Amino acid sequence: TPVPRIQLNDGRSIPQLGFGVFLVDPPETERIVTDALEAGYRHIDTAAVYGNEEGVGRAIAASGIPREELYLTTKLWNDDQGSQSAIDAFDASLERLGLEYVDLYLIHWPVPAQDRYVESWEALARIRESGRARSIGVSNFMVPHLERLIAETGVTPAVDQIELHPAHQQPAVVDFAARNGIAIESWGPLGQGKYPLLESPAVAGAAAAHGVTPAQAVIRWHLQRGFIVFPKSNRRERMAENFDVFGFELTEAEVAAIDALEGAFDGRVGPDPHAFG
Ligand code: NAD
Repeated sequence: TPVPRIQLNDGRSIPQLGFGVFLVDPPETERIVTDALEAGYRHIDTAAVYGNEEGVGRAIAASGIPREELYLTTKLWNDDQGSQSAIDAFDASLERLGLEYVDLYLIHWPVPAQDRYVESWEALARIRESGRARSIGVSNFMVPHLERLIAETGVTPAVDQIELHPAHQQPAVVDFAARNGIAIESWGPLGQGKYPLLESPAVAGAAAAHGVTPAQAVIRWHLQRGFIVFPKSNRRERMAENFDVFGFELTEAEVAAIDALEGAFDGRVGPDPHAFG
C-alpha cells in the first residue's frame, strides 16, 4: 500500500508516514537511513542540531532514488534564529545534505525568551520564495506563538511539528491548527519509550484485536487522527514493523480508548516550549 499524503496549505503534499533521525549517531546515520530507505520510507525528518545531516545526505545520494520521490525535512536551530543568520544556517544545512532543495524547513523551537522567531519566520518565507525550501513550517509552536506569527507576517505555517502521543495530545494546538489549515506532525509518537504506553490496556488490547504489535497500533492511532508521523528506530526489523501499518484499521472505539490516555502518566516527555531555549 502506498503511504497516504496529507495536503498542505501551500498546495504541496507530504507523505503521512516517515522516518525520524533524532539521536541517530552521526557515524551510523548513513547506514541507518539506507536501511530505512530499503524498508520503503521516502520521508526523512532531521535537524541541524541532530548533527547527522551529512549522513542523511549520503544515504540519499547513494540510494539512487529520484529526488522527487523523496521528502526531506530539516530544521533551524535556536542559536541561528534571526533574519540573516537563519538564511546562513539554511544554506549550511543544504550544503551538509548535499541537496539543491529541502521539501520542508522548520523553525525548531520558538524560544520566546530571545524573541527572534518572527524575523526568523520572515527569513523562511524568503527561503521558500527562492525555491530552496518547497514548504516552510514551525515546530514546538504553541497557540500564542502561532497567533503572533500569523498576525505579524500574514504567512501561515504549512505544519507545526509538536510533541504528541497518547498521554500528551495537545488539544489546544491541534484545534487551532485545524481551524487555520496547519497540518500537525507528531514528534515522540511512541512517547520516546519514556512511559509504559505500549503496555497500556488500550494500546495492548487494540494490538491484540488486530494481531499487530502495540507500536503498530499507536502509529495507526496517529494516522487515523490525521497526524503526520515519523517514528525512529535504529533496528531494521522495527523500521519494517513501523512501516507496516496499512493492512488494518483501528475501530472508533479503539481510537477513543487510546484518546482517553490524554494526561495519563506524566503527560509531556520533552521540554516545555514556552520555556525552552
Ligand atoms: P519515538 O516516540 O519515535 O520513540 C523512539 C523510540 O521508540 C526508539 O528509540 C525505540 O526505543 C522505540 N521504538 C521504536 N519503534 C519501536 C517498536 N516498533 N516497538 C517498540 N519500541 C519502539 O521518539 P522520537 O525519535 O523522539 O520521535 C520521532 C522523531 O520526531 C525523531 O526521530 C525526530 O525526527 C522528531 N523529533 C522532533 C523533535 C522536535 O523538537 N521537533 C523532538 C523530538 C523528536
